[in-house]
Amino acid sequence: MRATLYLSAGNVVVDDVPDASISEPTDAVVRVVRAAVCGSDLWSYRGIINRAERSRLGHEFIGIVAEVGDEVRTVRPGDLVVAPFQWSDNTCPACLDGIQTSCERGGTFGAAGTDGGQGEAVRVPYADGTLVAVPGGMDGTGESLYPALLAASDVMGTGLHGAVLAGVTEGSTVAVIGDGAVGLCAVLGARSILGAERVILMSRHADRTAVGKLFGATDVIAERGDEGIAAVRELTGGLGVRHVVEAVGTPESWSMAVGMAREGGSIGAVGVPHTAPTLPLFPPLIHHLSLNLGIAPVRRYLPDLISCITAGTLDPGPVFDTVLPLEDVARGYAAMAARESIKAMLTMQP
Ligand SMILES: [Zn+2]
Repeated sequence: MRATLYLSAGNVVVDDVPDASISEPTDAVVRVVRAAVCGSDLWSYRGIINRAERSRLGHEFIGIVAEVGDEVRTVRPGDLVVAPFQWSDNTCPACLDGIQTSCERGGTFGAAGTDGGQGEAVRVPYADGTLVAVPGGMDGTGESLYPALLAASDVMGTGLHGAVLAGVTEGSTVAVIGDGAVGLCAVLGARSILGAERVILMSRHADRTAVGKLFGATDVIAERGDEGIAAVRELTGGLGVRHVVEAVGTPESWSMAVGMAREGGSIGAVGVPHTAPTLPLFPPLIHHLSLNLGIAPVRRYLPDLISCITAGTLDPGPVFDTVLPLEDVARGYAAMAARESIKAMLTMQP
């Protein structure tokens, strides 16, 4: 089969690899229908973190179950399924607490020794605990829903989790730092799912701002740093916002988050920090801030997200502004790294 391999910084290719196959009775093999390039894939592409040469890439995909192991009960061959970016058994203590990304048997697609999502097929461990079937299957789900379902595999659930961690509820005022796909999905989740009344998106890119407004952002602020903080305070009567979603993960974005939160506010952080942590703890302490962090347990949200998408009440699909065949995956990485594309979707040969 064909799959995306990492060669070196700035260099990814599609090449022949061994076919995905069942190795445990709890496995399924999923034939990938759509896959995505994630902002987190760019960390190694940009050379910021190391990655093994010829390792597989990709952890966001939807597909058709091709084969299941003897112990798999909840999905059958032929099912259209969404996979969260990490697999999980959904039965261990962490999973039962709703933090499937801490599953004691979990792992990430594309890690050493696993299949990546940016390929023709994937072996999915703990298929029952990991995969969620789309009601209606292939016949009942139009291709027009594939982008939204694909977004549910990571960015929609991650953005929503940021808003949940920030304590967003009906009527909330929220600021979202980060106008990548996760930040944009945080806007959508805060507005459409959690009922926020006002969402301030920090964004300076016209294409991203447009999607943010489509997703329900009520205010957009282009300034960064102290100017951005001042602008948010001005919009909120000088108080700052009670709920902040931090969807970047850099020292600069954290300092903005702390600076724009009102006294007693909550920061929900899903941006993965790849640089040395430098968060000073004194400001959050004196301002009584709650800091809630975590790698989003997308599996927790998947059944509800899929229901909303198939019911037509949620559409995160517009985060994809680039669509390419798998063989052109390198163009997707290059466009996203150059910020010419918000997010790239890959299509596979039927
Ligand atoms: Zn578990």
